[in-house]
Amino acid sequence: MTGRRRIEIALPALGEEEWQALREPLLSGWVTQGPKVAAFERAFARRHAVKHALAASSCTTALHLILQALELGPGDEVIVPALTWVATANAVVYTGARPVLADVEPGTFNLDPEQVARRVTSRTRAVVAVHLFGLCADVDAIREAAPGAVLVEDAACAAGASYKGRWAGSLGRAAAFSFHPRKAITTGEGGMVTTDDDALAARVESLRNHGASISEEKRHAGPRPYLMADYDRLGFNYRMTDVQGAIGLVQLAKLDGLLEERRSWAGYYERELRDISWLATPRAAEGYGHAWQSYVLRVDAAAVPRPRDEVMEALQEQGIATRPGTHALHTLGFYRELLGHRAEDFPNARDGERLSISIPLHNRMSEADYARVVEALRDLG
Ligand SMILES: *Cc1c(COP(=O)(O)O)cnc(C)c1O
Repeated sequence: MTGRRRIEIALPALGEEEWQALREPLLSGWVTQGPKVAAFERAFARRHAVKHALAASSCTTALHLILQALELGPGDEVIVPALTWVATANAVVYTGARPVLADVEPGTFNLDPEQVARRVTSRTRAVVAVHLFGLCADVDAIREAAPGAVLVEDAACAAGASYKGRWAGSLGRAAAFSFHPRKAITTGEGGMVTTDDDALAARVESLRNHGASISEEKRHAGPRPYLMADYDRLGFNYRMTDVQGAIGLVQLAKLDGLLEERRSWAGYYERELRDISWLATPRAAEGYGHAWQSYVLRVDAAAVPRPRDEVMEALQEQGIATRPGTHALHTLGFYRELLGHRAEDFPNARDGERLSISIPLHNRMSEADYARVVEALRDLG
């Protein structure tokens, strides 16, 4: 619509403080992983009540580091939800292990523990529980469903989310967070591994830096900075830069305020949209602290006044961006080829992609923007 501001699906809450925070790394010349990343890691570990936080170049590489540190490889199976961002399964494939898909619950879009139990075999080594859209998966039930498997959290969307009084990132053996601009806090690209396991943390630290026996920062600060580190395992360059670390520190300090604002607007949507008969609003059950990375509605296929894609098109015409929730992995070309599933094999994941609509909810929207989104949905019938 002309004259009206476009409402984006997401916009990062970056500003003057982040701009100022760039001075130090840019002027000091230390721009690769260094003191800013270390400070960001310490603050992130404190905020999520974990012993170790290790920054990475993205959540995808953070997940890969965890799975590699668990020494997964060919012959191993890792259970992942059939409805998630493609990176969750890709990280498994990078290790040579096989991703085994399990269907999700229709109400939460998260892993269904019963479906996990059905997918367990003698080769199952790990389960990646995704906290989709900022809502924690039911990790206690998932752990019970696959007692012999290591529980890894894909907490990409879940910075600051909680489950039964514990923070996301502290619920499994290790977790991976994302700082992509679609998430609540951002460093452009970026990720974080959290864990309480000392040995796993040491392996992740080494693997992200080519398999080095000692980090660059420790070597530079140590007594013999002129000596090279030893490289005793095959590693990667998955480091975060100090430019990103400086931004991350500022963003992390804002996290709780940003989440509080998101919670309050999710409450507004709930009150304004719950009466629309063809829409189901997302809700967090007792004991779950939702981080509202995305606000994802589900349309009732039988009652929706026009097909989901036409609902999205109508909103687009009014300058309101929407997206499907996320992917049904088994329907993507690469995974169709690799795993050979049919769309109906995971009906809840299939419908989770086909019938979901993510509407704008972020920290750069005004009261009038939220009211416009509500009005546009109400006007559809
Ligand atoms: C965003 C996202 C990722 C990937 O994060 P990157 O930092 O972009 O690598 C992985 N899993 C889920 C569930 C996500 O939403």
